[in-house]
Amino acid sequence: MGKKKDRKTLENVSESEMPAIQAILQELYLKYQPLSEGKLASYIPELAKANPDWFGICIATVDGQIYEVGNSDQLFTIQSISKVFVYGMALEEHGREALLTKVGVEPTGDPFDSIIRLDDYSKRPENPMVNAGAIATTSLIKGNNPTDRLNYLLDMFRHYTGHDMFIDMSVFVSERTTGHRNRAMAHLMRHFGMIDEKIDDALDLYFQQCSVMVNCHDLAVMAATLANRGVNPCTGKRAVAACYIRDILSVMYTCGMYNFAGEWAYKVGLPAKSGVSGGIIAIVPNQLGIAVFSPPLDSRGNSVRGIKVCEDLSRRFELHMFDSPTACEHPSDRLSPHPQHLDT
Ligand code: GLN
Repeated sequence: MGKKKDRKTLENVSESEMPAIQAILQELYLKYQPLSEGKLASYIPELAKANPDWFGICIATVDGQIYEVGNSDQLFTIQSISKVFVYGMALEEHGREALLTKVGVEPTGDPFDSIIRLDDYSKRPENPMVNAGAIATTSLIKGNNPTDRLNYLLDMFRHYTGHDMFIDMSVFVSERTTGHRNRAMAHLMRHFGMIDEKIDDALDLYFQQCSVMVNCHDLAVMAATLANRGVNPCTGKRAVAACYIRDILSVMYTCGMYNFAGEWAYKVGLPAKSGVSGGIIAIVPNQLGIAVFSPPLDSRGNSVRGIKVCEDLSRRFELHMFDSPTACEHPSDRLSPHPQHLDT
């Protein structure tokens, strides 16, 4: 996979080699399934009902091949991973210059739900991957009324997955009832003129987008759609304009993993996004989308098993965007280019 001409890439495997990819996913599943670190998100009470053993891994290639193991068809709410796709929608509706006046593209280094920076400097949320920026982005989605806007949003998700999309009402109500921090952010942004007066509508739509139900298979196809310059590789239909893929992947790369974004970029080296229900997507541009689902989270709100699997896949297949074809001189950094030696 990746950049080296003499190496096997996941998108050019032949039919006979498919079982090998499947076997690697199976191996990763067995390797990381016993991990017991991490805690379920509980600040949205309904999310605490998840089964900590749920674990699915799925890869979708840009030519529509799917490899999956574990609970890849278990439904869960998309949560923050939705921010990526709503950002794409807002770019299409408003264009990048207008959107930049409302939401920046700067990583925060702060937790996803931090409110502190909103009161600093520009009064503009730093980026669309943290809650403040995502609420501001969602508030820009056009439509005549809340139902129109929700349908428009679900339709956008449908293009990415290839099937009708639904909201998990109990998660939506759970977050709507307890989301005081997000409400505080929205009101502060209203105070600064960053969002309009329909604050409750914007928050409801934001809580609804976070409560859209997906499974790991869906997420991999959505990620592969981004890898495929906006065209769903399974349906052949466009989900987002190709010209905005650059914008979307850039903010995913720098901001998608919150206050773990720097370490993620350094170690895994792929545009990615996580959510508090335990999903992570990662994009290998022009090749494939990776999705992992496992609800227990680390202290930054990222799936523990999800991070392990992505780190492992990146190492094995040299997926890091800046991988060098030559090995390092320093003995301690001279990692073998052969996958079996890279595994720790
Ligand atoms: N719905 C969640 C919230 O706004 C999304 C957060 C997340 O997945 N990191 O708090």
